[in-house]
Amino acid sequence: PSDSTYDYIIVGGGTSGLVVANRLSEQKDVKVLVIEAGDSVYNNPNVTDTAGYGKAFGTEIDWAYETVNQEYAGDHTTIVRAGKAIGGTSTINGMVYLRAQTSQVDAWEAIGNKGWNWSALFPYYKKSEHFQVPTSYSSLHGSGVEYNPSYHGYSGPLKVGWDAEQLNDGLAQTLNTTYQNLAVPVPYNKDPNGGYMIGYTLYPKTVDAEKNIREDAARAYYWPYQNRTNLHILPKTNANRITWKEGNEVTADGVEVTFANGTTGVLKASREVILAAGALKSPVLLEHSGVGNPDILSKYGIETKINLPTVGENLQDQMNNGLKYVAKRNYSGQPDYVSYPSAPELFGNSTTAVANNVLRKLPAYAAQVAKANGNVTKASDLERFFKVQWDLIFKSHIPVAEILVEPSGYVYDMEYWASVPFSRGSVHIQSADPSAKARIDPKYFMLDFDLQAQAQVARFIREIFKTQPFAPMAGAETSPGYSSVPSNATDSEWAPYLTANYRSNYHPISTAAMLPKEAGGVVDNSLKVYGTSNVRVVDASVLPMQVCGHLQSTVYAVAERAADIIKGNI
Ligand code: FAD
Repeated sequence: PSDSTYDYIIVGGGTSGLVVANRLSEQKDVKVLVIEAGDSVYNNPNVTDTAGYGKAFGTEIDWAYETVNQEYAGDHTTIVRAGKAIGGTSTINGMVYLRAQTSQVDAWEAIGNKGWNWSALFPYYKKSEHFQVPTSYSSLHGSGVEYNPSYHGYSGPLKVGWDAEQLNDGLAQTLNTTYQNLAVPVPYNKDPNGGYMIGYTLYPKTVDAEKNIREDAARAYYWPYQNRTNLHILPKTNANRITWKEGNEVTADGVEVTFANGTTGVLKASREVILAAGALKSPVLLEHSGVGNPDILSKYGIETKINLPTVGENLQDQMNNGLKYVAKRNYSGQPDYVSYPSAPELFGNSTTAVANNVLRKLPAYAAQVAKANGNVTKASDLERFFKVQWDLIFKSHIPVAEILVEPSGYVYDMEYWASVPFSRGSVHIQSADPSAKARIDPKYFMLDFDLQAQAQVARFIREIFKTQPFAPMAGAETSPGYSSVPSNATDSEWAPYLTANYRSNYHPISTAAMLPKEAGGVVDNSLKVYGTSNVRVVDASVLPMQVCGHLQSTVYAVAERAADIIKGNI
């Protein structure tokens, strides 16, 4: 294909890239090329097995990005996983399909992104979805799964439903009653995918329910359409940088790539270059293309095309921690059960005091983040965004944490994360070589509310294990254990356990943030990179703030909307 010209080149055949490729190639007169570093995983059992979460980790389909030592989290490095395959991270993820809270998508518009609010995005969540009604497959009977028909899409490409693992256990009801019996009850939520997430729920996954195999972006958006003559995918090919037209305007005309055989070439695009390489790669590609902070680019001999210092900043992820308990019976399979408490449920009587304390600290948080990045992002902007985030947590009461009960054998694994940390980090190049590792610094646990929330969820989990009717089903807490972290432990006494044992929650976002340029944005509300006439970013990099669900549903929806923007439908 190196001698043909395409209308659109999409860099990254992952979750978002394949959505955009599919929708653009619906137009028969438009030629689309997808450049993907990975290969087909259609028959890879580590991908297809619905009970195989984690099996692909560390294999050739995992980028396994490594962070620098995390100075606020035990000073060690950690791995951020991401899929390297046709289908991207959707081929290795946990398949959880949970969206966001209405108010937090509305906040995108409030911070300056006109047209990006819940009511604009909700139709795109549905457009991508092929909801498999639970009654159509028999394993669900008696499981208690419920849903609201109006929240779902029935004719989209992406199969969403319940797999066998989630269903065959009476534990669901026990946990529900237990959550109702907590000091501040966590209500039952019949269907969290309509914009209201608070509560305890039985959530759906991206799964082909009849075949009981993983549904990923490739199975949904690419393989059934691979015979379209105007849709091409180039696997095992690494994009190195965008190439630019001569002239005053900054206009992309192609992408320099390294093919599977090690040779290098340039592929031409007549209309647009669309970056969908993921939040830890798209900003790196921009920097290698001369779009970024001149101080960083000049270090590696890269000429600055566009002075846009916030490329790679605003990196937001969550910290994932766990507690373990003895289970008094043996569990098979991988069932899991989720709850989303809001701040009043998590902090109880202390909520107002915690809220006031955090509010007082917002200017200091903003100053600390700005100082850490050399004032590339301005403290005044950060403080404004942090206040929006504070309002979401303490006024609109978005979920402040996600808690998963994961029984396995004779163990209850309690996995959790606080939903919206304030810490902001960065990803930047540290070499002129596009194949070199980037410098990834999420700054986990930098700000003290992030630690406080993470410690409070641990205390909350301990309460669940003291509450009927669940309490007698569990034995001792084995990790960390009360002898290691006593019941009255303060946040700083929890800190060593939390920072030694956390991992990335694998939800990196915002490294090419959609925001007004003067407020630190990299792309505008049409997802176009500032200063360019025809380069867009359509992946998780553009989300300006974290969402409380899991990322994929929102990434699919944003990419669906991006395709409509590119087609001129919006
Ligand atoms: P990706 O899907 O990662 O796509 C980027 C693509 O670009 C990849 O295919 C990559 O190989 C390719 N690429 C990168 N660099 C280049 C280059 N230079 N040249 C060519 N190609 C390149 N979300 C959920 O909703 N539910 C979950 O249960 C869940 N669990 C997760 C578990 C794990 C282990 C991980 C890692 C993530 C999980 N997520 C989950 C998050 C979610 O899957 C991702 O946020 C989402 O898939 C990201 O989509 P994307 O389009 O931004 O990037």
